[in-house]
Amino acid sequence: MKKVVKFGGSSLASAEQFQKVGRIIRADAGRRFVVPSAPGKRYDKDIKVTDMLYSCYALAEVGKDFKKELAQIERRYKEIIEGLGLNLSLTEEFQTIAEKFKKNEGRDYAASRGEYLNGLVMAEYLGYEFIDAAEVIFFHENGSFDAEKTERVLAERLEGKEHAVIPGFYGAKEDGTVTTFSRGGSDITGSIVAAAIHADLYENWTDVSGFLITDPRIIINPEVIETITYRELRELSYMGATVLHEDAIFPVRKEGIPINIKNTNAPEDPGTLIVESTCRKPKYTITGIAGKKGFAAINIEKDMMNTEIGFGRKVLGVFEDNGISFEHMPSGIDTMTIFVHQSEFEEKEQKVLAGIHRSVHPDSVELESDLALIAVVGRGMKSNRGVAGRIFSALAHANINIKMIDQGSSELNIIIGVKNEDFEPAIQAIYDIFVVTRL
Ligand code: ASP
Repeated sequence: MKKVVKFGGSSLASAEQFQKVGRIIRADAGRRFVVPSAPGKRYDKDIKVTDMLYSCYALAEVGKDFKKELAQIERRYKEIIEGLGLNLSLTEEFQTIAEKFKKNEGRDYAASRGEYLNGLVMAEYLGYEFIDAAEVIFFHENGSFDAEKTERVLAERLEGKEHAVIPGFYGAKEDGTVTTFSRGGSDITGSIVAAAIHADLYENWTDVSGFLITDPRIIINPEVIETITYRELRELSYMGATVLHEDAIFPVRKEGIPINIKNTNAPEDPGTLIVESTCRKPKYTITGIAGKKGFAAINIEKDMMNTEIGFGRKVLGVFEDNGISFEHMPSGIDTMTIFVHQSEFEEKEQKVLAGIHRSVHPDSVELESDLALIAVVGRGMKSNRGVAGRIFSALAHANINIKMIDQGSSELNIIIGVKNEDFEPAIQAIYDIFVVTRL
């Protein structure tokens, strides 16, 4: 068994957390390649090392003194090193960092040091080889990830190695400039490493026991999803459910490697298994519910719209010209509604309206704001009669008016539009009908 194990910031926030991680790694000989994040929060009001680095560098960038701030970061690592009883000094590393900050080496360089230093500590603690991500993860000149070069170099470098620690979140461009992924990007590094060594499993260790059926801020203690497919996960992540970085699934998905989300603080919990496809019947008809508030709907009416070829294209062209992406487009015979993100739309509202009038001469255009979209996702919905019916009757019982319904022919996803204020009660009603009453 070859496993890549990625540990998130909260799993590595203190010496105690490192010890838990050490026990997890030693408990399974397959856990050979380790991708650490930077130390995260130890308690609610704590600050992540990555954020401390960003603020420290912001001072350096404008020529202000940053000694105190950098010393605070150094102290966090010192506490971990001492707590683990390691014989490791990062003094020289911090001198280099201070010099590079003074020379304005870059924001990405600054942020990347969180993972880099944690990688050094982790390698020392485990007795594994340290591989600097800047030597094996590559970015193009424009900052996008260079998959082709990375795959080649990384596979070559890891070939035949028993163990290694590769820090997450960053890599380098051709000229050596350190570059990071977007926030939470260590998940992507883990996935890239797993793909490069053709791992059997990518374990992603965090502080929750898997992907929850829905948002715990809305439903108290929602159940954990046991198995989810990449496609389902993508639908849910797109609608705001987060555990894993959105882009982390692509490298492993290409290789058919499953991801297991696990909890460092409860390692016995099975967590969530993310797979390409599965015969395992989902526990409930639906796999998950996610959603977002803050949408606006533009409702266009014109008699005989249905006979006017090119009507839809012209309307969407107006949105395109204004750089607004649309989310959904339910339509009737003489009506067409476009759902957009309210924040994106608001500032261009009048331009878009004028554009629609000019290009398609509608009878009327109405706007409605403060809408929410809810995605009910599940491979179990396919060919299963009555799912939509159950959703609608649950919402009717909860006195919630449905503004929009959208279901693709893949039957993986039903999207429902409601008013912002109905968002939480709607999720509660759907959760109750499928999970609590197990329909
Ligand atoms: N440390 C980085 C962040 O806070 C990357 C990561 O944790 O994945 O975003």
